[in-house]
Amino acid sequence: MKIAILGGGLTGLSAAEILSRNHDVTIYECDSQLGGMAASYLIPIEGKSYHVTKTYHHLLIGDDATINAISNCGLNADLNKKKVFQGFLYQGKVHGFSTPMEILSFPIPIIDKIKLAKFTLIDAKKKDWSSIEHLNAKQWIEMTAGKNNYDVFFEKLVQNKFHCSPEEISAPWLGTRFVKESSSFLKKFMWLKGGIIQLINGYEKKIRANGGMIRKNLAVESVSDTNNGVKVTHKEGEDSFDCLISTVSPEIFLKLAQNVPPELKETAEKVRYLSCICATVVVKGIFTDRYWINVLDRNMHISALFQHSVLYEDSAPEGVSIFYISTYLMRDEELWSMDDESVMDIYLSEVNMFFPGFKANVLWMNIARFRDAEAIYEPGYKNIKENYGNLYFAGIYKIFPKIRNMASAIEEGEKIAGYITGEKNV
Ligand SMILES: Cc1cc2nc3c(=O)[nH]c(=O)nc-3n(C[C@H](O)[C@H](O)[C@H](O)COP(=O)(O)OP(=O)(O)OC[C@H]3O[C@@H](n4cnc5c(N)ncnc54)[C@H](O)[C@@H]3O)c2cc1C
Repeated sequence: MKIAILGGGLTGLSAAEILSRNHDVTIYECDSQLGGMAASYLIPIEGKSYHVTKTYHHLLIGDDATINAISNCGLNADLNKKKVFQGFLYQGKVHGFSTPMEILSFPIPIIDKIKLAKFTLIDAKKKDWSSIEHLNAKQWIEMTAGKNNYDVFFEKLVQNKFHCSPEEISAPWLGTRFVKESSSFLKKFMWLKGGIIQLINGYEKKIRANGGMIRKNLAVESVSDTNNGVKVTHKEGEDSFDCLISTVSPEIFLKLAQNVPPELKETAEKVRYLSCICATVVVKGIFTDRYWINVLDRNMHISALFQHSVLYEDSAPEGVSIFYISTYLMRDEELWSMDDESVMDIYLSEVNMFFPGFKANVLWMNIARFRDAEAIYEPGYKNIKENYGNLYFAGIYKIFPKIRNMASAIEEGEKIAGYITGEKNV
């Protein structure tokens, strides 16, 4: 079979790796490098070059698909575990929040700390969420962790991560996602020596060895499903295939596709995305030992900071730190429409308030914008079907109710490959 894959991110790569073993596969990637959201910069620092992903990319316990993919690319020895620490920016100061001592000294009343501990250790550790299915997240948190903890932590954390009020999401939804992620701090995070680019390169090598074709710097301009298969056009001409797998967002796909079945159009048009702006900043000096700092203060544009060089130990020379400064937002918000220079000015000024000297010590910085960073699971969210005729669908818009991460993208690619070859029932 001749198969086209639209998009060279992890979904496209994992599908291509399997399908290219027995089929004639072509990946189209509009960017100059593979990897999509998990692509990397090559940053020169003090005479050496470092591969650093364009936004934070940690692996958590349970990200089995990513761990297996790393192993299948022969990179097992480069996968490392590390205990990392979190903090909160609260009342203009970064407070550690990982050790019992840090939690005890966080500036909230002791009674709220006790409630928070009970919430994290007992209430959020449910296996069966059916008893609170009727509650929204605000009701559940106020009932269990208390109103003060809701006001100080949860309202802003949900806003930072999901860009909505906790009243708009269900209690089990918050419980299974948000709490699972935060409780990973009790265990270790994982990182890949040499960076995530190693995994991307590993996939590329395997696909090419299988005879697969990878066309970078080539944007697909149109897709049409005819009775004789799928036609793909791009600036260099037209190619024909038996079928096509789309891994791009439904909005982008609808712009490219012709004669889309009404049911597909209707489902695809409903998928909305959160966007994300992420600055990568290389800075001389050590400002904190925290990996992840969530911003609780309301007057900030920044939602969170991640100190990449704390987790990825080989990503920067001694005495140099790499930070991600990020904001999840909708595209109609003012920050999205600002140019990169203005966004960077805002970010650096805000960080300088709690890390004095940060701005003056910047060695390198860049802004990445992720237009379709994460599908918004609105009530009634429906995953698009696996295929309509010769058009197949896979990607992070199709994983509801799972979390969007590298693992779910890889699983999606593997799943669609199995679906096409009939090797797995989906
Ligand atoms: C801010 C942020 C933080 C994240 N943090 C983590 C983390 O800590 N851990 C983790 O595991 N995951 C993380 N992820 C998630 C992870 O990066 C994604 O789930 C995964 O990379 C998605 O892969 P994909 O192939 O489905 O989509 P994409 O990576 O979006 O791939 C789609 C590809 O299609 C290409 N494309 C688009 N239009 C065209 C066209 N017309 N022609 C040709 N090509 C086209 C794009 O250039 C892109 O390469 C994060 C993501 C973001 C945005």
